[in-house]
Amino acid sequence: MSLFDAMFDPRGWKSMVSETLGRGSPKLPELKKGLSREINQTWLEDFIFDFVRNDSGNRLEQAFSSEPIYQAPLIGFVRGTDPLFQEYKKIIGPFHHTPLEVMAWASEVQGIAAPSPEQIGVVSFILPLSDAIAKDNARETEWGSARWGQARLFGEIFMRKLMQTMIIQLAKGAVLAAAGDFMPDFRKKKYPGPGWASPWSHRHIAFAAGLGSFGMHDALITEKGDAHRCGSIVVALPLTPNRTRLLHYRHNCKQHRTGDCLVCAKRCPINAITEKGHNKDACSKYVMKSIPRNIFRNNVVIYSCGLCMTGTPCAQKIPV
Ligand code: SF4
Ligand code: SF4
Repeated sequence: MSLFDAMFDPRGWKSMVSETLGRGSPKLPELKKGLSREINQTWLEDFIFDFVRNDSGNRLEQAFSSEPIYQAPLIGFVRGTDPLFQEYKKIIGPFHHTPLEVMAWASEVQGIAAPSPEQIGVVSFILPLSDAIAKDNARETEWGSARWGQARLFGEIFMRKLMQTMIIQLAKGAVLAAAGDFMPDFRKKKYPGPGWASPWSHRHIAFAAGLGSFGMHDALITEKGDAHRCGSIVVALPLTPNRTRLLHYRHNCKQHRTGDCLVCAKRCPINAITEKGHNKDACSKYVMKSIPRNIFRNNVVIYSCGLCMTGTPCAQKIPV
C-alpha cells in the first residue's frame, strides 16, 4: 500500500471515530419473532471460537498478510443482575451502564418489553494477540511496532465485526442482544471525577466475568497475559458464570502481590506509570502522537503504543 493509499484508507479514520466517539456503530438488526432456536452458552462459545478460527478478518495485512491477529479466545459469562455492575456506577462513574440498562435500550429500539433481569446475561471474551505481535512490540522502546499498529487497527475492526455478527445471528434466533459500546450515548472522554472513561468498559466486564484482573498499567492480566483485546455483549439469556472472579482487582499483578515489579513503568517512554498507578491523561496524549508515525512508517491510520503491555512479566501469562 502506498503512503497516499494509507492516508486515505477510510478504515482507520472510521475505526478511531467509532471507538472513541461511538459514531457509525451498527444499528440493531431486526429481531426474529417466535420460537428461538437452541441458543445457550455452548452455542455462544462455539460461535466465538469458530469466528476467531475461520473469519478472514483475523489477519494482519501488507507485509504480514499471512499472519493471524488473534489466538484462541478466553470466554466468561456473568449474570446481568450481578451486584458488581451497580457497584461500577460508584467505581467508574454513574454514567457506566449496567447490562439491564443496555437491554432496556435494545428493547426500546426493537419496540418490545425488556426481558426480566433474571433473563439477562453478559458474555465477555478476550482475544489474545499472536506471539509474533506481542514479541515484535516487546523489542520496541519508544513507539509501538508495525505489527502492533496493524493489530490495533485490524484487531479492533475484527472485534467489532465479531460482536455485530453475533448480535445478528442471535437476532435470527429470536434472542435479543446488544453491545454496550454500540449505544448512541457511547463516548470515550474525560468525565468529571474519574477522568478518561466510557459508559461501557469491556475490561471491567471481563473482570466481572472472572477473566482476569488489572495491572498497574490498567490493562487486564488474564491467563494469556495482557496483550489482547476485550469484547462483550449483553444477551437476553440466563447465563451461568463459568469462572471464579478474583477477589482483588489487582490480584494477577506481580507488583500488587510482591511489591517488586513495575516493569511496565520502566517500559513506558513517558513515565506515565508509577507505583501510584497509570496516568491516563499523559498516556492518551502520547498515544495520539503516534498517528502520524503509524501513517508514515507503518502505512496504517491508527494510534498505538502498548509498550507497557509487552516485554513484561504479565505480557502473555500471569506472572509467577
Ligand atoms: S509489569 Fe509487573 S507491575 Fe506492571 S502490570 Fe505487569 S505484573 Fe503488574
Ligand atoms: S502507559 Fe501509555 S504511553 Fe506508557 S507505555 Fe503504556 S500505552 Fe504507552
